Amino acid sequence: MAEAERKREVGRGERVIPGVWRLRLPLPWPGVPHCNAWAIAAGDGIVLVDTGMHEPGSLAHLERALDQVHLKLEHVRLLACTHAHSDHYGQAAPIVDRAGCELWMHPNHAHMTQAAQDPEAALARRLEVARQSGVPEEPLRRYAEQRKGQGFGIAGLVEPDRDLVEGVTIDSDLGPWHVYETPGHAPSHVCLFQPDRRLLISGDHLLGRVSLYYDYGWTPDPAGEFLDSLDEVGRLDARLCLSGHGKPFTDVRGHVEANRDLVHERIAAVAQAIATGEPRTVVEIVPEVYGEPLNPMTASWRLSETLCYLVHLERAGRARRVEGEPERWQDAG
Ligand SMILES: [Zn+2]
Ligand SMILES: [Zn+2]
Repeated sequence: MAEAERKREVGRGERVIPGVWRLRLPLPWPGVPHCNAWAIAAGDGIVLVDTGMHEPGSLAHLERALDQVHLKLEHVRLLACTHAHSDHYGQAAPIVDRAGCELWMHPNHAHMTQAAQDPEAALARRLEVARQSGVPEEPLRRYAEQRKGQGFGIAGLVEPDRDLVEGVTIDSDLGPWHVYETPGHAPSHVCLFQPDRRLLISGDHLLGRVSLYYDYGWTPDPAGEFLDSLDEVGRLDARLCLSGHGKPFTDVRGHVEANRDLVHERIAAVAQAIATGEPRTVVEIVPEVYGEPLNPMTASWRLSETLCYLVHLERAGRARRVEGEPERWQDAG
């Protein structure tokens, strides 16, 4: 998106159904212009689900969105985060501070909080994954140069006051919301489900436009965990999905199936790429799966995603890792 166009993006609020408001907040990411936070009526205040990313001026966007629906930060009685990515947790610190509320989030948030505590170690780790995947030194050096000193979009680290795990409910005027642990996109991911109205707050687990992302290296099998989470959410029979990006949508089952199909398609493409010939690096596998070679914009995302499929195949006894610098992969058959 052009810089001038991006600058016009501002926080916006709108009522979705009585007692639920969508707060659409701008993001600085190419191709992902905004994210959603959700305000839910709860007694004399609101439950806020997710926060938007922390950037200069970002809290004003949230306040503007709230103001459009006649709400204020001071109305927040509880902040719940669907997961610890910066666009969903980044502003937790100033919100908790201003509202004097608790933060509830899943305990497996180290994928973000540990990285934010030690950005240099996180960058070094990311570079090592890329090197092991076969990315040459020169682009790695340029990437490291660019990333140095860049923030994580996190205003400050706040530990959850309560763990959002299975069995926990969040009370609201619409009735209780039940927590479902849905790792895959991120180890800390949860969905919230209101069973009487069949409303699902899906975070980034289910989006209107199918888009796969996994945090690599924190759990044994992110792609497998994501598939299990899709099964779990599919069983809920939600009627309306309030997702972390984009407009609310109704065909929840169709979206679950589209995600599952794409994961299986990509796993099959990765399996195909290592089926014959010499063992291959992740960088060599990527073009066969996505139809184009790695580029600086997509590199980190696609390396992680492809590695997750390889690890998934390895655990199923269908792929074998050939140790070395870089690491190569081949069919285990
Ligand atoms: Zn996310
Ligand atoms: Zn997101």
